Amino acid sequence: MLDSNPIPSPEISTVTEVLEQQSDVLVAGLTEEGSLPSTLAAVNGMTEGWLERLVENGEIRGKRGEMTLLASPRDVGPRMILVVGLGAGDLDRNLAFESASTAVRRLADRQRDTVIISLSECFPEEAHDALVTGALSGCEQQAIYQSDPSLLAPEKILFSGVSEGSVQRGRAVGESVNQTRRLVNEPPAVIYPESFTEKAVAIFEGTRVSVEIWDEQRLVAEGCRAMLAVGAGSSKAPRLLILRYEAGGTESPLAVVGKGVTFDSGGLSLKPSEGMVDMKCDMAGAATVVGVMHGIDKLGVKQNVIGYCGLAENMVSGDSYKLGDVIETRSGKTIEILNTDAEGRVVLADTLDVAIQHEPRAMVDLATLTGACMVALGTEVAGLMTNNQDLCNDFQSAAGVEGEPVWQLPMFDLYNEKVKSKVADIKNVGEGRWGGAITAAKFLENFVGDVPWVHIDIAGPAFADGAKPARDAGATGVMVRSLIRWIENSNV
Ligand SMILES: [Zn+2]
Repeated sequence: MLDSNPIPSPEISTVTEVLEQQSDVLVAGLTEEGSLPSTLAAVNGMTEGWLERLVENGEIRGKRGEMTLLASPRDVGPRMILVVGLGAGDLDRNLAFESASTAVRRLADRQRDTVIISLSECFPEEAHDALVTGALSGCEQQAIYQSDPSLLAPEKILFSGVSEGSVQRGRAVGESVNQTRRLVNEPPAVIYPESFTEKAVAIFEGTRVSVEIWDEQRLVAEGCRAMLAVGAGSSKAPRLLILRYEAGGTESPLAVVGKGVTFDSGGLSLKPSEGMVDMKCDMAGAATVVGVMHGIDKLGVKQNVIGYCGLAENMVSGDSYKLGDVIETRSGKTIEILNTDAEGRVVLADTLDVAIQHEPRAMVDLATLTGACMVALGTEVAGLMTNNQDLCNDFQSAAGVEGEPVWQLPMFDLYNEKVKSKVADIKNVGEGRWGGAITAAKFLENFVGDVPWVHIDIAGPAFADGAKPARDAGATGVMVRSLIRWIENSNV
C-alpha cells in the first residue's frame, strides 16, 4: 500500500538558557504597544540597542501575525531571531496557538535543527500549553506524499518559561490534532472503513483505550441496516468502531460519535466532480473522535468516555441504495431515501442508536453533514444544534476557551414537520434547500432518545481549500481541542 511520510514528531523539551546556547532560531514576541519583553530586551542590551532601533524605525511593528526574521549580529547564541507580532488584542490561548504555529510554519522553508520558542513571557500561564500544541500543529501539512516536502519541521523545539506539565499537556493535544488531520488527509484508497479500523487498532495499541470493531456480519446481526444500506454500493463494507476509555468508577460515560463516510461520491444522487474532489474529508467526524480519544488517554482524563465511528463508503453500483428505498433502521424507525447524497445522517441513525444503548449521560456527535451549514455560517464556523441547552452552553464555553468558533442554530418544533415522510416515519431530506443544516439535525434527533445531545456540523471548518499563516490547507483537526476541554470539564 501507498505509504505517506510519517507525522513529524520533533523532539520537544523545556530550556532555561536561551541567549548563550547555540541554536538556529530564537522565537520571541512583540505586541503593538512596542516595549520589548525580557528576551528581546536582553538581546537588545547585548547588541547596543539593535532591536530598539528596529522598533523605532518601524521595521518591527508588533502587528498581529507579522513575522520578522533577523540574522543575529552576535556570534554566540541563536543565529537568527524571529520576532512574532502579537497585535493589540487579548493575549489568549488562541493567539498563543496561532503564534507558535505560524512561527514554526514561517521557519519550515529549510531544515532547522534547534528552534527555541520564547513566547511564554507574553502569555498568561494557562495559555502556555497552547504554545506547544500550536507549534506541533504547525509541523503537520497536507503534502504527505511529496518526496521532497516544501515544509520541513525542526528537529528540536525547545520552550523557555513553560512548565514540564504544560509541555506534556500541549504535546498530547497537539499530537491528537495532528492524528485527526492525518486520517482526514490520507486519500480514500488508503482510508476506507476496514483500514480506518486497522489504523485505530495501531493508534490505540498499548493505551487504555480498548477497540471494538463490528464487521459486516456483526452489523447484520445487530440490525444496522441503515449503515449497511449506505455501504451497499461499495466493494468496501461498512464498519462500526467503538473506542472505550475507562477511567474507573461507576458513573455513566460521555459519548462522542463521528460520521465516517470515507468517500462520498453521492451515490446514485451523484455529485459533480467539483463537489466530489474533497470527499475523502467526509470522515472528519470519525477522525475527530479518534483524535479526541487519543488525547484523553494521553492526558489521563478522569471521565469514562466511549467513542463511536460509523464508517461506510458511499459509492455507485448495481447494489447501491436507491431513491425511494425505505430502510428500517436499527432503532426500528423507518426512513425514506429521497437523496442518496444525504447519507451521513443515515449512517449516524444506526451509530447514534448503538451509542444510546450504553446510556451515556451526555452525547456529542460530529459530522461533515450539510452544505447548508456552510451557507448559513461560512466555512470557518461549526454549527451547533441541541436538545439540551445546558449541555450546549457547556460545549460552547469549552470551544470559546480554545478559540474555535461555533454558533448555535435553533431546533424549533416547527422543523419536525419538514422531515416527515409520506411513506415512512421520516425522510432523509428536508423541504428543499431551506434550513438544511437544521432539518438534518432534526432527522438525527429521532435517534438520540432522551440523552442530552449536541450535534456539531463541521462541514465548513473540517477541511480548508486554502492555507493560512497558522495552518496548511486540507484537514484542520477542528474541535479536537474543544472536545478534550469539554470532556475534562464535564464533572458530574
Ligand atoms: Zn453525501
